[in-house]
Amino acid sequence: MSESQTRVDSPPKYKRVLLKISGEALMGGREYGLDADMVAQIAADVAKVRDLGVEVCLVVGGGNIFRGVSGAARGMERASADYMGMLATVINALALQNALENAGVKTRVLSAIPMATVAEPYIRRRAVRHMEKGRVVIFAAGTGNPFFTTDTAAALRASEMGCDVLLKGTKVDGVYDADPAKNPDATRYDTLSYMRVLTEDLGVMDHAAISLARENAIPILVFSIYRPGAFAEVLSGKGCFTLVRNEE
Ligand code: UDP
Repeated sequence: MSESQTRVDSPPKYKRVLLKISGEALMGGREYGLDADMVAQIAADVAKVRDLGVEVCLVVGGGNIFRGVSGAARGMERASADYMGMLATVINALALQNALENAGVKTRVLSAIPMATVAEPYIRRRAVRHMEKGRVVIFAAGTGNPFFTTDTAAALRASEMGCDVLLKGTKVDGVYDADPAKNPDATRYDTLSYMRVLTEDLGVMDHAAISLARENAIPILVFSIYRPGAFAEVLSGKGCFTLVRNEE
């Protein structure tokens, strides 16, 4: 099927979306840091979705470089370690911006920690305006506060931007009743309620993120970011994913 046929046959279901990309996803097969091929693949997927006319913003994690909890476990003050983690997300945001621009996508990085020479400061109205102009906005530095995660930042920004859906790109193509890597009989949920994710601790995102998405009625779509093309596909309701929403 040609790209133009795809556009006609299955238009995206959403107008404005937020994709949360974990630092781990940017590592590809590496143990640490950034894998250039993986970053380029994600950028190409984002470009494809942007080409469909969907407004896209991204929240990027930093776990491939530094996590506050690991710093704290090694004796650092937790808040300082968390600031280091937030700075790690800025490194990833700049790498993604570079890859997106190589793919021909106009991109702006907005940082929750002001850093005037490398990124714009986060200003909600400015972010909305960038998206209306067709630019992909990358939100860096999480929420700007220690003791939070980039999952929570993703739910927060999706709420502030009025996104129709929050996508969580993971290694697997949805949420399963057991680990599919260890159990061949594991089955994927098509839909789940926020409440079930919270009470059964299904590990989709942290509880603060799930609660915020629930309060603002933003569905969370979990899919595999590792499969090229999956981002555009799931936005059209195709392929494999799990949708977390109010009712199952
Ligand atoms: N972080 C923070 N506040 C935020 C977002 C992130 O302090 O609002 C810090 C925290 O230390 C976290 C690190 O940044 O461990 C990297 O973010 P995260 O672990 O969410 O990245 P991911 O797991 O998605 O790669």
